[in-house]
Amino acid sequence: MEENNLTFDTGYIKSILKEIVNKAHTHPDKKRVHTKSDKKSWQIACPYCGDSKRNPNKYRGNLNKILFYKCFNDGCDKQTHFTSMCKDFGITIDGEVKKKIYDYLDRYTNSVETLQDELM
Ligand SMILES: [Zn+2]
Repeated sequence: MEENNLTFDTGYIKSILKEIVNKAHTHPDKKRVHTKSDKKSWQIACPYCGDSKRNPNKYRGNLNKILFYKCFNDGCDKQTHFTSMCKDFGITIDGEVKKKIYDYLDRYTNSVETLQDELM
């Protein structure tokens, strides 16, 4: 059976992102996780660069549906994967979830011509 949707729990991904921003930021507005309209990608205030110093409502860190993270803040431009992000912030992801993520990515990367094109 072809499966092009995320098979893991997007609520779980969101809760991990929430943990990351809670650790990285002190401003309450920066601790929010925004779910984009497709329900499979998210925006956060970048935990690597701290995002905008002036505007706590800037969310330039994007995690897309294949769980690739990219920050659009000039000078940061951090690009990483969700699983590395968790490691960077000392968060352990459930082994079962990790397995599902990798399975999904395997299937996904086999189904697209060039992964790079799909990253953003
Ligand atoms: Zn950043």
